[in-house]
Amino acid sequence: MNTLELTSSIELSTTTADLTAPVISRSDVLVVGGGPAGVAAAVTAARSGAKVTLLERYSSLGGLASGGMVLVLDDMINGQEITVTGVVSEYVERLQKLGLAIVPPADDRKTSEELWNKWGRYGTFDFHSHTNPKPICYAAAFDPDGWKRVSNDLVREAGVDLRLHSWFSRPIVDNGVIKGVICETKLGPQAFMADVVIDTTGDIDVASRAGASYAKDNYLTTLVFRLGNVDTKAAEAFEQANPKEARAINRKIKRLLGGAWELWWLKTPIDGVVWCNAPHMSGFDGVDPADMTAAEFAARDRISEAVDYVRANLPGFENCYMLDVASQMGVRQTRLLQGEYVMTKDDVTQRRHFEDTVARGRDYYYPYRSLLPKEVDQLLVAGRHYSATPEAQKMSREIPPCMAMGQAVGVAAALAVENNLLVRDVSALDIQQGMRRHGADPGDVPSSNATVDATAAVPA
Ligand SMILES: Cc1cc2nc3c(=O)[nH]c(=O)nc-3n(C[C@H](O)[C@H](O)[C@H](O)COP(=O)(O)OP(=O)(O)OC[C@H]3O[C@@H](n4cnc5c(N)ncnc54)[C@H](O)[C@@H]3O)c2cc1C
Repeated sequence: MNTLELTSSIELSTTTADLTAPVISRSDVLVVGGGPAGVAAAVTAARSGAKVTLLERYSSLGGLASGGMVLVLDDMINGQEITVTGVVSEYVERLQKLGLAIVPPADDRKTSEELWNKWGRYGTFDFHSHTNPKPICYAAAFDPDGWKRVSNDLVREAGVDLRLHSWFSRPIVDNGVIKGVICETKLGPQAFMADVVIDTTGDIDVASRAGASYAKDNYLTTLVFRLGNVDTKAAEAFEQANPKEARAINRKIKRLLGGAWELWWLKTPIDGVVWCNAPHMSGFDGVDPADMTAAEFAARDRISEAVDYVRANLPGFENCYMLDVASQMGVRQTRLLQGEYVMTKDDVTQRRHFEDTVARGRDYYYPYRSLLPKEVDQLLVAGRHYSATPEAQKMSREIPPCMAMGQAVGVAAALAVENNLLVRDVSALDIQQGMRRHGADPGDVPSSNATVDATAAVPA
């Protein structure tokens, strides 16, 4: 078998004849990517009266919140004020009704050793604070399958036409205007046409291929896993009574994992099941299949070794077992849109308020221009790949803020369709008013700690 000869005769690139694909649907608004930002965008556009199609490559909705098993909703407070509302609040309410979300009550949102001991291991604390212990705050620990169920209900109730198992492969662009997309499916390529397309793939798959400018970087990659049959009461009692000894064991575990935040395990709404946000690995490109294959192998090797050690050494974990490993690698950052406005680290840390602010994170603000590509018309972007520098994205990409961006583009897309406008011509004021109608905070009224001086209030 002359493998070498075969290999050397392979072309380095190939071009296929242009493909033919049946048109499956024509919608007002087409959302590509069913993660937190995508579901928020699709539901909001549909509730605004638009005919909406939502495409998702995997078998369920939720993106990193379900498939990546990212289990704490945070970054939605500015002091005691809850700054991210709307669809994310609906998730919290519905998950709580199912017994699948845990939220500290208002009276417990304070700083004390006692409250830390009660809530710290749910991860419902202000991770930006430098106090010791950190303040307990409004945040939610939730169950990943519960997130899928609530997503299904929201999408179904809003009348969104959902297509799972549909992998976006190329945009349909005519004269700088996006007209639809092609998906790869088991039935072959399928085309979906729309007046407005929203890219919520997390890696600007659609916008990058449609010709929008982007930056490329990477940050920590994590394959989350969960352990079952953990005696969390015993584990917490041990670490509270023996902080020094517990720190030494946890240091060793984190070394075996090869990287983790201070608390490498957190409690979940299910008794005895803990969430492990580790191992943190750097240097992997989240859109490169070869890198992602290597990351999957590296992560599983580290997890196996660490779990053996945990069982043998950490009180409360003696009889634990590996419940599951996330079906989706936790990729935090890849391609970032470089759109009409590029958010900087200063904008985030200085809490810069913009005239065209349409969504809010913790204490920072997203201008509508950071959701608009420069080069392509009728295309909007929302979620972790929004227009930001890599440094700014790291601190402004949690699930609730991504959902706020999703709601803003859902409102904008519906307004564009209703008024026969280009999406870039939709007024920020109209989006702000639409956000309020949907119960979401558009951040149009700056908080007292926002930077609103003449240089900072960047005009739209
Ligand atoms: C390990 C880890 C821990 C984190 N911890 C927290 C935390 O504690 N709290 C918090 O709030 N945030 C956390 N984050 C951040 C947060 O999870 C993400 O930033 C957030 O989920 C981004 O939402 P999104 O909708 O923009 O993108 P994603 O969640 O990535 O969703 C994108 C969706 O698009 C789909 N998609 C992608 N490409 C295609 C395609 N070509 N065709 C069709 N569909 C496609 C995906 O399958 C997915 O459903 C964490 C992230 C990681 C990785």
